[in-house]
Amino acid sequence: MDSLTDKEVITRKTHVCAWCGEDIEPFQSANYRSYVFQGDFTTDYMHPECHDAMNRADYFDDEGFDPGVNTRGKTERESEEAPDAE
Ligand SMILES: [Zn+2]
Repeated sequence: MDSLTDKEVITRKTHVCAWCGEDIEPFQSANYRSYVFQGDFTTDYMHPECHDAMNRADYFDDEGFDPGVNTRGKTERESEEAPDAE
């Protein structure tokens, strides 16, 4: 994966978090990325805590993750180890 942009921004409209699939409300801080993945130019937005979770998850560059299926702010492993009690 070739990362082109990876920075914190303030959103101006609603975006869907690429990690957890929840909305990122307007005027919130979010992490914006643009990158080339398997030949496709891609951009996405994430909650800051989801961006942290992605960085903890140690994905291989060409493996990636399934968009929108993760628990907000948690890696897949973390959400298995500590399921929400709700
Ligand atoms: Zn998120």
